[in-house]
Amino acid sequence: MTSIPDITLNNGQAIPQFGFGVFQIQPNDTVAAVSTALEAGYRHIDTAEMYGNEAEVGEAIARSALDRGEVFITSKLSNDAHEPGEARQAFDRTLKALGTEYVDLFLIHWPLSARYGGDFVQTWQTLEEFYREGRARSIGVSNFQPHHLRRLHGETQIPAVNQIEVHPYLTQDDVRTFCAEHQIAVEAWSPLGQGSVLGDPVVRSVAERTGKTPAQVVLRWHVQRGDIVFPKSVTPDRIRENIDIFDFELSAADVEDITVLNKNERTGPDPDKFDGR
Ligand code: NAD
Repeated sequence: MTSIPDITLNNGQAIPQFGFGVFQIQPNDTVAAVSTALEAGYRHIDTAEMYGNEAEVGEAIARSALDRGEVFITSKLSNDAHEPGEARQAFDRTLKALGTEYVDLFLIHWPLSARYGGDFVQTWQTLEEFYREGRARSIGVSNFQPHHLRRLHGETQIPAVNQIEVHPYLTQDDVRTFCAEHQIAVEAWSPLGQGSVLGDPVVRSVAERTGKTPAQVVLRWHVQRGDIVFPKSVTPDRIRENIDIFDFELSAADVEDITVLNKNERTGPDPDKFDGR
């Protein structure tokens, strides 16, 4: 396997472009799934307090032979903890659950414009404290639209990443372009559309021609577009299949054929409407 590329974030930190997501993995299944991923070569794990499995992620990393510095860990602030005092407590809980003194990346999970008086700027300033303390090596946001991101202009730190839903049925090229113009790396969540894009005839035909699976083609499409991805699976064969995408390349025409499948179809909530409950 060719190695996973790093992307350099706007603060100079490196992040592996490919990782493992653990949303909707039951705590009881998490140690096994993350252990399989680490054995398969994944070195970047994406979790969140709201996923309820941070402790099991930490346990799997501790059980592995890897040093803490070899694994990039992301977690996210709970929707119920945006108020600065709550955010500090939530961040302490995250570090304790993961069994680590720092996370590589900490994100505001949702902007929640309809809660906290619409004030996510004070929440961002609290993340800046974690960054200054060195307890979050990078900080970023998730599910932010350009109008949310603009409100952070003038704050000390620019978000290192914006983690948004992206897949062939939701290409998000407007948000991605805004992020590129502002040196914010894009992380594509639900990169497989939670499986919904895998039966698409265009994806299937590229898969047949390249001798790869539909999941591998879609993940390769993301990587060639420059986004960071972390597909989720609890099935060991799929965990290994998903990382096996660094030995082939899609043509520019294949990338374009998949990009035009866009239907602006979300699998998750609309960030402008979601109140986090
Ligand atoms: P995903 O697009 O990674 O799809 C996962 C599903 O696809 C699996 O449950 C399985 O059904 C299927 N699948 C996976 N590999 C496959 C394969 N090789 N062949 C066939 N089917 C396969 O969806 P996701 O878990 O929603 O997203 C990935 C990660 O993104 C999450 O685990 C989480 O870390 C992150 N995420 C973040 C947010 C956010 O608000 N920031 C929201 C959702 C997800």
